[in-house]
Amino acid sequence: MSRLIYEKSAPGRRGDNLPRLTQAESGCRLRIPPRYFREHEAELPELSELEVVRHFTNLSRMNFSVDGNMYPLGSCTMKYNPKICERVAALDGFSALHPLLPQLRGGGSLTQGALEVLYETERLLCEVAGMHAFTLQPLAGAHGELTGMMLIAAYHKARGNKKTKVLIADSAHGTNPSSASIAGFGVVSVPTGPDGCVDMARFKEALNDDVAAVMLTCPNTLGLFERRIREIADLAHAHDAQLYYDGANLNALLGRCRPGDLGFDVVHFNLHKTFATPHGGGGPGSGPVGVKRHLAPFLPTSIVIRRNDGSYALEYEREKTIGFIAPFYGNFAIILRAYAYMLLLGRNGMRRVSENAVLNANYIQARLKHSYDLPYDRNCMHECVFSAARQAANGVHAIDVAKALIERGIHPPTVYFPMIVKESIMIEPTETESKQQMDEFIAAMLEIADEAVKHPESFRAMPRQSPVSRVDETKAARDMRFKA
Ligand SMILES: *Cc1c(COP(=O)(O)O)cnc(C)c1O
Repeated sequence: MSRLIYEKSAPGRRGDNLPRLTQAESGCRLRIPPRYFREHEAELPELSELEVVRHFTNLSRMNFSVDGNMYPLGSCTMKYNPKICERVAALDGFSALHPLLPQLRGGGSLTQGALEVLYETERLLCEVAGMHAFTLQPLAGAHGELTGMMLIAAYHKARGNKKTKVLIADSAHGTNPSSASIAGFGVVSVPTGPDGCVDMARFKEALNDDVAAVMLTCPNTLGLFERRIREIADLAHAHDAQLYYDGANLNALLGRCRPGDLGFDVVHFNLHKTFATPHGGGGPGSGPVGVKRHLAPFLPTSIVIRRNDGSYALEYEREKTIGFIAPFYGNFAIILRAYAYMLLLGRNGMRRVSENAVLNANYIQARLKHSYDLPYDRNCMHECVFSAARQAANGVHAIDVAKALIERGIHPPTVYFPMIVKESIMIEPTETESKQQMDEFIAAMLEIADEAVKHPESFRAMPRQSPVSRVDETKAARDMRFKA
């Protein structure tokens, strides 16, 4: 680490042994009023390399991560992220790039590779999605949803359509209604039928010429394939409503079927879920949005283009664009990881991802379905949703099951989502867990179900072992207000 200090007017008192800026090196010398000069050396900690290594190693051990444990958090796709993607993202040629370097002449030799990555990633995502064009700018899934809703609003405006509403399945992630309403639409919730899919009768009732878009998640958040997408698409299109695909659950379909072929007009993918980027704790993420041809003119700028001479450039001037949705080109390092991951897998690898993700979830569903209620009893896709209603009758709620897992050193699945299932426990093993690892998880879940019958009172004190003690939830809810 270089230590450069500005020369004090009376040299010689301190810092003589430090490298000093010459007039030429400092370029324009700052005129700092003498009262701002330090009187004493800054009290910076002096640590040995070993002390620093121990500090950070111990901190990293406090972090619960996929590299250390199974992370069966439903809807989040917490899969293993291959280290090769990290290495690619850390290459100097990528990580040291400045976003304002020239695209062609001068610094162009430095940026052409990065532009090619953006361009190729768009092409690959188009192929995966069955779409015609993509923007890589959105910084999260929710941001992609908002971008998609803005694209749909721009499309309807250009056609002179006056549309005010978006239909959303009641099983949808909370970000769907939020995104639609931030984009200026009213939200109409469509109930789920007894088979776990959109209730078609209620859908038809809600659909009319006011509807700008229909947002679907497939498989939906119950982990079930929406069976009537074709019919929903045809009905929606008959009213010139656009069909939006929330692609957070793409891990179940990757390489097997494409939202574009199913009739969707707009999709977002969560690169940080499906395409292997470490995530959690709020970011950084990447939620690219793909569209069919009729929506492409509205995509945000910039767009990467490939010129006839084979060089790449960013295009900013587009007549119908909705404008900037994020600074620069999105979260480039995440896009880069996804690019590396797609090249690593190839077409067959992607297929195997979804096959194994679905197989693993069905294995867990089959092994646990006699011990926990299964509200929608059919083959699941990449995640399965149980209910702890049976245990709750005995005073052991979904949150108690979660805490009993923490007691055993296991990260709990998602609980209380989707909201349409009471006491829900949503398990997503992902394709990267071994049978042995899943068996350990299953054994813990079975033990907990057993204990909920025999010793329901024992759950009150859990987790006992964990550094996180049980919070007083009543007090937390009661005192939940901002202190002035
Ligand atoms: C995670 C998720 C989202 C939102 O994605 P973020 O990247 O967290 O903003 C939307 N829908 C579903 C079904 C999700 O699981």
